[in-house]
Amino acid sequence: MKVLVINCGSSSLKYQLFDMENEQVMAKGLVERIGILGSVLTHQAGDKKKIREIKIPNHEKAVSLVMEAIIDPEYGVLKSMDEIAAIGHRVLHAGEDYSDSVLMSADVMKSIRKNIELGPLHNPHNITGIEACRRLLPGVPQVCVFDTAFHQTMPPEACLYGIPYEYYQKYKIRKYGFHGTSHRFVSARAAQLLGRAVEGFKVITCHLGNGSSIAAVKDGQCVDTTMGLTPLEGLMMGTRSGDLDPTVVTFLMKKEGWSCDEANDFFNKKCGVLGLSGVSSDFRDIEAATAKGNKRAKLALDRFAYVVKKYIGAYIAVLNGVDALVFTAGLGENSASMREKICQDLDYLGIKIDPEKNKVRGQEALVSAEASPVKVLVIPTNEELMIARDTYEIVQEKK
Ligand code: AMP
Repeated sequence: MKVLVINCGSSSLKYQLFDMENEQVMAKGLVERIGILGSVLTHQAGDKKKIREIKIPNHEKAVSLVMEAIIDPEYGVLKSMDEIAAIGHRVLHAGEDYSDSVLMSADVMKSIRKNIELGPLHNPHNITGIEACRRLLPGVPQVCVFDTAFHQTMPPEACLYGIPYEYYQKYKIRKYGFHGTSHRFVSARAAQLLGRAVEGFKVITCHLGNGSSIAAVKDGQCVDTTMGLTPLEGLMMGTRSGDLDPTVVTFLMKKEGWSCDEANDFFNKKCGVLGLSGVSSDFRDIEAATAKGNKRAKLALDRFAYVVKKYIGAYIAVLNGVDALVFTAGLGENSASMREKICQDLDYLGIKIDPEKNKVRGQEALVSAEASPVKVLVIPTNEELMIARDTYEIVQEKK
């Protein structure tokens, strides 16, 4: 069974085609600059690569080009689109409507539309992608895999804010959490790698990339996570501030004369390690600047590691102990120095890294010291595979 996974952004579309017999990626690619001058499709199938610079005015055109690429006689991998049995979509926000992946229906579309106000930057594009697929591949089942779904198991004391309850009732203001597909994938994989049953297994998963979040997972269920109503809460990130006193927002709005949209833009796009270092939002640039003696770059790395460490401590308390700590995503998978910095002086909590074993990049590895009671793992995340698995399972069940 062939499953196509689609992740639609505002001006981009990422895709992967899986053969679910062996869970292998048959082809993958990226459409960039949709609706903008200079749009381009990059398609890869094994060692064959095709780059097409072509006008792509909208997502429908993008999806049709992806389909052309998949069946192209020269660099494609299928004879006909009829071979695609199902399509899985990454969708950002389901509010409180779904705690699992679901088969597309009118009700699901209604929910994604309703939740645009909670995910204004993503849900509209997710809808566009779904509708484009429906028009181009009518009759092929589509499945939605939500970024928020995994976190729906958080208890009320973890996900409600200290504001009057009627605002939760009226506007559904609460913590939702994101990167759920990634936290679900790596937490399950950690149990598997350590030969543990999911029941009774306590794990803290650190998804550290441009966007970063941590989740506390017990018995395979999320009990707390750092992101909130939106992805702005929690850790300091590439360009997001993370946690701060809400007065900082109103203070700066008054001083700088910002509108709500301007303030939103500022705290999402101009803060984090970019704002603090003044160097870049990319941790590679900040690590390089730190090595050259840039003090603000060092401060950004120090604060990033400090906040991650603080949440690890908090989540060990929430879980009443922990069996494993997982690092994933761009920074978590690749930066040995950041992992070491975060885990420094956590031996009181049973976490001790082995500096030699920690010298890994982008591959599964156990990096804790032999004597460390808590196992520390690097596990590359694979949200696309998780989406393909969910899609496959749901479509099989419906047969
Ligand atoms: P992601 O959002 O998961 O794609 O992660 C992207 C981020 O990972 C980049 O912005 C980098 O800051 C970081 N990253 C990727 N590779 C490395 C590396 N080798 N060393 C340090 N940071 C890295």
